[in-house]
Formats: sequence, C-alpha cells, structure tokens
Amino acid sequence: MEQPNLETIAALLTRDLGTARGSYSAEVQGSVDPDIAFCIEGTTDLWLHLWHTDDWVEELANAVDQVQDVVMEHEAELWPECPLHRHALIPTPRDGRVVWECMEAEQVFA
Ligand SMILES: [Zn+2]
Repeated sequence: MEQPNLETIAALLTRDLGTARGSYSAEVQGSVDPDIAFCIEGTTDLWLHLWHTDDWVEELANAVDQVQDVVMEHEAELWPECPLHRHALIPTPRDGRVVWECMEAEQVFA
C-alpha cells in the first residue's frame, strides 16, 4: 500500500475544514518525524500521528473522527453535514484514502 503523503492529507483536510464556520486548519509540522497539526485559529489543538504501517488509512479515519468531534463541539452543530439528510458524515477508509460517507444512502462525498 502507498505511504501517506502528509502534505496532501493536510491540504485536503484544510479544504474540508473550510466548510466549517470557525477558523480551522491542518498543517504538517516537524522535519524528523513530521505529524499533522490540527489548529483552531492558528493554535494547535491536537496532533494527527500516522504510523507508517499498512493500516495508516484506518488510523487517519480515526484521527479525522477526533477532528470532527472537536469541530462539532466548538460549533455546536453537525460538521460536515450530509447534503441529503440532517446528520454528520462519517470519515471512512476506502480504497486507500479516507472519504466522508453517508451511511444512510451509501453515498460518498470525497
Ligand atoms: Zn445522509
């Protein structure tokens, strides 16, 4: 399986976080053993550490799930909200990456 590209993951996560109301971002920090920092208004709130194993997509899904919890707690609303129903989408490992999934309609929103 492909190894995680932290820069790409951080860029995609930042893009998705742009749909939330508050100011959130994800960036790669550290040079020797880089991790993704999840920031709220520029301050690191938690670290997304991915072990470079075959299970990293699973780990990323769990990490995104943590980010989702923090954002929803901050916003006191669902994020990201399913465009079809009134519920939050679920970060799900699929085909070597993590997608936002609606369990009800089995639709994937990348
Ligand atoms: Zn839905």
